[in-house]
This record gives sequence, C-alpha cells and structure tokens, in this order.
Amino acid sequence: MKFLTDCMLGRLTRFLRIFGYDTIFAKDLEKEDKVAVPDDDLVEFAQTEKRIIITKDKLLSKKASASSLFLEGEDVYDYLRQMKVRFKSEFQFELKNARCSVCNSTLNQVNNKEEIRKLVNEGTYENIEEFYQCSNTNCKKVYWYGTHIEDILSKIKQIEIE
Ligand SMILES: [Zn+2]
Repeated sequence: MKFLTDCMLGRLTRFLRIFGYDTIFAKDLEKEDKVAVPDDDLVEFAQTEKRIIITKDKLLSKKASASSLFLEGEDVYDYLRQMKVRFKSEFQFELKNARCSVCNSTLNQVNNKEEIRKLVNEGTYENIEEFYQCSNTNCKKVYWYGTHIEDILSKIKQIEIE
C-alpha cells in the first residue's frame, strides 16, 4: 500500500514513513514557486503511481473517489486509527523496515557507527549501538531506537486496544 498525503498532513506523513509505508507528501510535489499542486494533478499522480490519497479535503477525496480516504478530526493518532479501520493496516515498527521521515527513502543499517559519529550527539553515540541511515545521499538522516519512538509506540498500542 502506497499513499499520497495532502498538504495538511505533515505529521501523519512522517508517521506513515516511520511505519514503513511509502508516502509522498503533496507539499513535496510543489515546484520552486511553492504554489499548491492542483487537485486534478494530485489525483492523476496518485493514479499513475497507484497511491491512495489521504486527505482532510472533502472535494479532493471525492475527485479521487474509491482510492482515497477522507480523514475526520485533528489528532494524528485518530488519523492512524481511521486508516487502520479502512485499510486493515498494521502499524508495526521496525527500523529496518522504516522509511526516512524527511524524504521517504529506505534506510540502511550502519555497519560501523564511527561513520555517523559527527551526525549525532555524544550521549546518543555512546549509548546506542544500532543505527540506521537514510539511503538518500542528499539526506543521510540518522535513526535509532530512542524514547521518542517509544512514546509513539505506546500511543499506537492504545489504538490497538480500542
Ligand atoms: Zn532521508
């Protein structure tokens, strides 16, 4: 399952990528002039790439008809719950399956942590052994299991219970 998220869903976009879903953010499709991509172009792009449009915009959702999900509410965890209901999607987190939250590229495990020493703070470098890095050479963001991820996972667990 691949997604296209609208401009209002930046936080959800990052979450979906972290959970390993290939997700293009409509804002990232804007050209230099930063003018929002027209709905018809978004729908065409999504159809070409077989992406499901996730949106807060009822009109866009209608245009994309069956291959879209209109989200109610405002909370990112509620959005994930709605996606779980609709697509039976699992939100299981494993860093090796995650995508870069910034650029949607896949991650590679870092073989020698010396390579990323300058990219993380000293405490993290000393305490963490397992690092992953974005495969996009223009991005190279570094990832590891940390408290931020644990917070997200505990909230996701609450969704599972409901
Ligand atoms: Zn990246």
